[in-house]
Amino acid sequence: MKNVIIIGNGIAGVTAARHIRKNSDHKITIISGETDYFFSRTALMYVFMGHMKFEHTQPYENWFWKKNRIDLVKAFVKSVDTTNKTLLLDNNTTIVYDDLIIATGSTPNKFGWPGQDLKAVTGMYSRQDLDTITEYAKDCKRAVIVGGGLIGIEMAEMLASKNIPVTFLVREKSFWNGVLPAQESEMINRHIREHHIDLRLETNLVEILSDENGRAKAVVTDKGETIECNLVGLTAGVSPNINFLKESGIELGRGVLVNRHLETNIPNVYAIGDCAQQHQGIGERRPIEAVWYTGRMMGETVARTICGVPTEYQPGHWFNSAKFLDIEYQTYGWIWAQPRENEARFYWEHKDGKICVHFNYDKISRKFIGLNTFGIRLRHKVFDKWLTDERSVEYVLEHLKDANFDPEFYKQYEAEILQKFNQENNTQLVPKKKSWKRILNLA
Ligand SMILES: Cc1cc2nc3c(=O)[nH]c(=O)nc-3n(C[C@H](O)[C@H](O)[C@H](O)COP(=O)(O)OP(=O)(O)OC[C@H]3O[C@@H](n4cnc5c(N)ncnc54)[C@H](O)[C@@H]3O)c2cc1C
Repeated sequence: MKNVIIIGNGIAGVTAARHIRKNSDHKITIISGETDYFFSRTALMYVFMGHMKFEHTQPYENWFWKKNRIDLVKAFVKSVDTTNKTLLLDNNTTIVYDDLIIATGSTPNKFGWPGQDLKAVTGMYSRQDLDTITEYAKDCKRAVIVGGGLIGIEMAEMLASKNIPVTFLVREKSFWNGVLPAQESEMINRHIREHHIDLRLETNLVEILSDENGRAKAVVTDKGETIECNLVGLTAGVSPNINFLKESGIELGRGVLVNRHLETNIPNVYAIGDCAQQHQGIGERRPIEAVWYTGRMMGETVARTICGVPTEYQPGHWFNSAKFLDIEYQTYGWIWAQPRENEARFYWEHKDGKICVHFNYDKISRKFIGLNTFGIRLRHKVFDKWLTDERSVEYVLEHLKDANFDPEFYKQYEAEILQKFNQENNTQLVPKKKSWKRILNLA
C-alpha cells in the first residue's frame, strides 16, 4: 500500500483520487487551499447570477470522502522537498508521500500593470474571486474587464446580468480572433455589442487608478482614455499555478513538464490538469490545455499508472464547448483562425446572425478536419467517430441529422446549408435520413 498525496482538489486531482480508490487500497490524501470540497469551477458564474447556490456546484455529498477513505487537508503547499519526499504546508506542518500528484490548476495572468493589486481588481478563477466580485459588484456603477477570452465574456455576462454597465477591453482587432475564424469572431463582436456591453477592440490597459481607500476608481487605456469604474476584472488568460515548485528540482516550463505517462523528471512525482505541460504537444494539441475534460482524462490516466498499469495519456480528438452570452459554441477537430494551405472552408450563417456552421476540410482528399457551430448543438460521439473514420466533408454534410440533438429546430436550416454548399461546390448533395442504428452503434 502506497501513501499517495494529491495537491489540488479540482477536477484533475479529484478524478485521480476517485480512480486510485476504485483500483487500489492506497492511502489517499488531497491537499487544497481554496475550498474544503471539490466544486465545479465552470459553474461559478451561475452562483453569481443567482441560478444556483454554491453548495449545488459540489458534485459529491460531504460524506463521500470519508466513505471512500480519501483524506482532505485544507492548506496551501508552500514547498516540495523531493529528496526527503515531504511537503511543507502554509500551517507549517509537513506531510510525507510515496507518490505525489501535482494538480494545482491555473492562476489568472497579471502583466505588471500599475494598480493590478488594488482593491476591487480581481481575476475570475477561484471561489475567493467570486466573493470579491460579489462584494464589489454591490455598489458598482461601471466595471471594466481586461482581456477577451472565454472567461472575460463570462465575467461580462455576469455583471451585465446585474445591470452593471461593462466596458470590455480587448487587445485584438476582433474578439478571440486567435482562435475563431473571422466570420465567427465578427458574429461574437456584434453579439457582445447587442447585449449593450461596451466592447473596445484593439485597446490595452495601461494603468488602474486608485481612490483614497486603495480601491480601483478608473482605468487608463493606451488610447489615452480614462474610464471611471469601481470593479476591474483581469481576464487576460491563465497560467499554470506552479510558483511554489520553483526550488523543488521538478522540471518546469510554463507548467510542470511531463511525459506521455504524466511523469515529471523526478520519480514518483506526476502532474495533471491545467498545471501540466507536455514536453511536446500530442499531435496538433497544445502542450498545456486548460480545459475541464482533459483534466478529468489525465486524472484517470495517472490513476492507472499509480495503480500498476502504466498508461499513456491519449486525449483523442480535440473538442470544446462554451457559451458566448446566450450563443452556444462547439468545436470538433481542427478549424484554425486561418486556413492552412491544404485546407478549404465552407461557412453558412443564418440570416439572424446568431447561428452558423463552419466546416474545415482537405482541399484534395475532401477529408473532414473539423467544424465550429454556433447556436446549434451537435452530438460529440458522432463527430468523434466521423473524425476517427476520416469521413469526407460531403459525408458529414449529408449525415448531419445523425449528429443533431434537436432535429425539429435544425430541419429548418438543413436545406439551406446543403443548398449553399452545392452552389459553392457544384455538387448535388442530399440529406440522408437520420439513422438511430448508426447513432446507437456509437454508444
Ligand atoms: C470561470 C471559469 C469558467 C470555465 N469554464 C470552462 C468551460 O466551460 N469548459 C471547460 O472545459 N473549462 C472551463 N474552465 C477551465 C476549467 O475550469 C479548468 O480547466 C479546470 O478547472 C482545471 O482543473 P484542475 O483540476 O487542473 O485545476 P483547478 O480546478 O484549478 O484546481 C486546482 C486546485 O488546487 C489548488 N491549489 C493550487 N496551488 C495549491 C497549493 N500550492 N497548495 C494547495 N492547493 C493548491 C487551487 O486553489 C485549486 O483549488 C473554466 C475556468 C474558469 C475559471
